[in-house]
Amino acid sequence: MCDIIWCKKCNTVNYLDPYCFWNWEGKVNCAECGEVYYIHMIQGHMYKGPEPRPGEKPDIHPLYADKPYDGYTNYPPGVEGKTRPYNCTPRHIYLGRADQRKFSIRNRPMRAWPQPPSAGIAGSQGFYWDIKKLSPEVWEEYMEKIKKGEVRDW
Ligand SMILES: [Zn+2]
Repeated sequence: MCDIIWCKKCNTVNYLDPYCFWNWEGKVNCAECGEVYYIHMIQGHMYKGPEPRPGEKPDIHPLYADKPYDGYTNYPPGVEGKTRPYNCTPRHIYLGRADQRKFSIRNRPMRAWPQPPSAGIAGSQGFYWDIKKLSPEVWEEYMEKIKKGEVRDW
C-alpha cells in the first residue's frame, strides 16, 4: 500500500512510503512547493488529513514525488530538502547466507547445493538428474527417508 498526498497548490503527488507511514502521525512537506501537511494514519488508513499547516516544519520528507500533469517531472528519492533517501536495508535476519538444502520440506531431493558438473564442461541436463549415480549419498539418504515414511506429496 502506498498512500499519497496530492498537493492542491502545485499539483504534485507526494508518495508516502508504506512501512513507516502505516501507523504514523506527523507532518510531511510537499516536494515541489514545500507546503506542509499534517496526516494521521492508522493501520494504513488516512484517519486525519492531509490538512495544510502553513509555516510549520515537516517531520519527514516524502519518499518521492511527481507531477502527473507535467510529463516526467519528478523528484526521485534523496533530493536534498525535498525527498528523503531510499534506504532499502533488509532486516539483519535477512543478511545472512543462503541455506544449502539437499531435501525439500516434503523430503524430496533438491539440487540446491554446489554439485560437480554432470554433462561435461559446457553440458547441461536441466531436467535430468541421475541422482543415484551423481550423488549416491543423497540417494541413500532419500531411500532411508522413504523407508521411514518421511517423504510426502503434500
Ligand atoms: Zn505543493
